Amino acid sequence: MENSKQYCPLCGKEKPQFFIEYINKYVYIKCECEKQKEAEENERKRIKAIEAYINQRTKSSHIQLKDVKADLSTLKVDKNNKFAIEAAQYMAHILLTDEYKTKAKNGLILKGNCGSGKTYIASAIINEYNKKHPLNESAFNQIIKDINNGYINSLDVRIESPCKIIKEDELLRLYGRYDYRTDTSALDEFRNAKKLLVIDDLGTASSDIKKIQAAYFNIIDYRYSNMLPIIITTNMNNTELKNYLGDRTYDRLNACCFSINLISNESRRSS
Ligand SMILES: [Zn+2]
Repeated sequence: MENSKQYCPLCGKEKPQFFIEYINKYVYIKCECEKQKEAEENERKRIKAIEAYINQRTKSSHIQLKDVKADLSTLKVDKNNKFAIEAAQYMAHILLTDEYKTKAKNGLILKGNCGSGKTYIASAIINEYNKKHPLNESAFNQIIKDINNGYINSLDVRIESPCKIIKEDELLRLYGRYDYRTDTSALDEFRNAKKLLVIDDLGTASSDIKKIQAAYFNIIDYRYSNMLPIIITTNMNNTELKNYLGDRTYDRLNACCFSINLISNESRRSS
């Protein structure tokens, strides 16, 4: 006895069927082209899920919109940025492999004028980490589930990158209103960033220098003591940096960071 026939919706071939006594039913076997289409569909969803996952990491790193696509591998190397790019690749490497935990110097001071690309390079290090660090499997599976349910734009999972970037003025603003008794989240997200804290545009604040120095001592001493990597981008030269941060903080920063100069095209043209 045969059940009614079923045909593949793609190629029109009749699907083989057989009877399973245990469930007392006929089952149909999927056509090869249906299987293939399903596999392609699953692959498409997997790629979409990876994108969504990495986007969440980027967002939680606070990468500026203009640097969301910052990428070390496509950056044009010239004699001005050569060392900075090499240092950046090294940073990405020690972050991805956790080797930063055993390196006395595990951070960077990226010095250069406006337009020299220091923020771009710092962002590219974070992007490299966010792109290449293995995805957490259960979070990834949750994203796949969300995609299957059509929730791609409102993911339930919260994915947190351990690498953060923050502009100096924003960091000092958070620090200024920080209250140890009541507030632990807003500043700590950055101060305690589990792997990397990038302080962007250091040296631009105009508030009371004593307050600035106290804030930086607190933040940099904490990270230095716990061997947590720091990257600073700044327009300042060494003397300016030392005056701005104060000796103690400056010494700690130099003890844990390589200092790299970037020379911008603008400054080269005008000199
Ligand atoms: Zn078929």
